[in-house]
Amino acid sequence: MGLRSDQASDSTRLGLVSRGSVGRPHVVIVGAGFGGLTAAKGLAKAAVEVTLIDRENHHLFQPLLYQVATAGLSPAEIAWPIRGLVRRQRNTRVLLGEVTGVERERHVVTMGDREVPYDFLVLATGATHAYFGNDGWAEHAPGLKSIDDATGIRRRLLIAFERAEMENDPGERERLLTIVIVGGGPTGVEMAGAIAELARRALAADFRTIDPRHTRVLLIEAGPRLLPTFPEDLSRYAERALRSLGVEVWLGRAITGCDAAGVMLREERLPAGTVIWAAGVAASPAAAWLGVEADCAGRVKVGARLTLPGSDDVFVIGDTALVLDANGEPLPGLAPVAKQEGAYVAEVIKARLAGKTHAPPFRYRERGKLATIGRRAAVIAFAGLRLKGWLAWWIWGIAHIYFLISLRNRLIVATQWLWSYVTFERGARLITGMHLNPKRDRHGRRSDDSARPLPRRRAA
Ligand SMILES: Cc1cc2nc3c(=O)[nH]c(=O)nc-3n(C[C@H](O)[C@H](O)[C@H](O)COP(=O)(O)OP(=O)(O)OC[C@H]3O[C@@H](n4cnc5c(N)ncnc54)[C@H](O)[C@@H]3O)c2cc1C
Repeated sequence: MGLRSDQASDSTRLGLVSRGSVGRPHVVIVGAGFGGLTAAKGLAKAAVEVTLIDRENHHLFQPLLYQVATAGLSPAEIAWPIRGLVRRQRNTRVLLGEVTGVERERHVVTMGDREVPYDFLVLATGATHAYFGNDGWAEHAPGLKSIDDATGIRRRLLIAFERAEMENDPGERERLLTIVIVGGGPTGVEMAGAIAELARRALAADFRTIDPRHTRVLLIEAGPRLLPTFPEDLSRYAERALRSLGVEVWLGRAITGCDAAGVMLREERLPAGTVIWAAGVAASPAAAWLGVEADCAGRVKVGARLTLPGSDDVFVIGDTALVLDANGEPLPGLAPVAKQEGAYVAEVIKARLAGKTHAPPFRYRERGKLATIGRRAAVIAFAGLRLKGWLAWWIWGIAHIYFLISLRNRLIVATQWLWSYVTFERGARLITGMHLNPKRDRHGRRSDDSARPLPRRRAA
């Protein structure tokens, strides 16, 4: 299957088709996350032209984002330039840009006023934060999904300590040193543990007016337990481990409001200097681009071969797809799911090109669930096996180092972790982006940090 002539002329005009592509099928992959990148890699030696589009120039290892947000690692240690990752893949070109739509009848992907024609389309655009209809909370309670999110949260956290050091009003100081994490899934648990350790260990000796060890870290979960997708005994262990780190765990309590001064839980106001959102995700708008129905999480329903019903040439994978397992249950939004789906799609496309029209349906091979709580504490659930404590923590650490891309990053992260383990130090405590087009209110105050209200008196 090659490019249709109308597509070829259109795309040539727009300068978006790879050299030598005419005559070879064109696979467009949107999203170079776990799913999209694996699909692209799987097509490395196939007789196709691949265009990999992403709005970021890097592939991101999201499972370690919380470490960037809590100053344990630097961004470049968990992200890699996409171009570098497919440098040796001669049939693949990378486009940096935001996809805004898909025209299925014309077989084109749109990027604003640009169009990229396709023969096969793989949508792997992931998910984003969901505020359950309260989008206004996003400004005050950022979620964790990108490098910018992580460095933004790191900035808020570190500025809160700096402001508290200068604050004379004890009430305001207490507010600045109160950190609320909303959502008790793996990201919330990991953030809470890491922030407690940051405050009680890494920052403990660095301030003169405040004592960071008195920082109040609250993890608020609306459901009855933390880590709801893990077995119950592991949830209880995680709760105990967090409490032993000094984290206050509030279960069965839902946030009903959120502003610059803190959060509301029905009538109760909880003043907080930093609020972090780890409570919900929604799929990318792929369903809207395709003009199909989405489930309640915004995911596109796909068939057993991960194609859109009625469109064999459009695949949707990863967090943005609703894929059911053998029991009819949705597969979770996890990296191994996205990677296995990406690899599967590459095989299906290759089989189709070889004239095989009946690929076996996709089957997910369970890889287990892991979450870390803090130093020497993690939980693992895998095929009936339940592990907790220091052994689970070591396995968690080794697995995450193993899955990082490039030997360089594995060595750097392993060294950083070893160093932090021995010294309790957090090397990446940089406050960045303070002076880059900050959003300011009418008094000239920044709205994206925990600085409001600014200290009213001179520093002590
Ligand atoms: C903080 C955090 C921690 C996590 N921890 C774990 C964990 O410990 N273990 C685990 O298995 N999973 C974890 N996950 C989930 C895992 O990261 C996701 O399931 C996985 O990334 C999904 O892969 P994907 O390819 O569908 O999407 P992603 O990896 O999110 O990739 C989507 C890509 O699409 C690009 N994109 C999006 N929209 C557009 C557009 N309009 N135009 C162009 N490009 C676009 C994005 O820039 C991104 O590169 C975590 C997720 C987060 C956020």
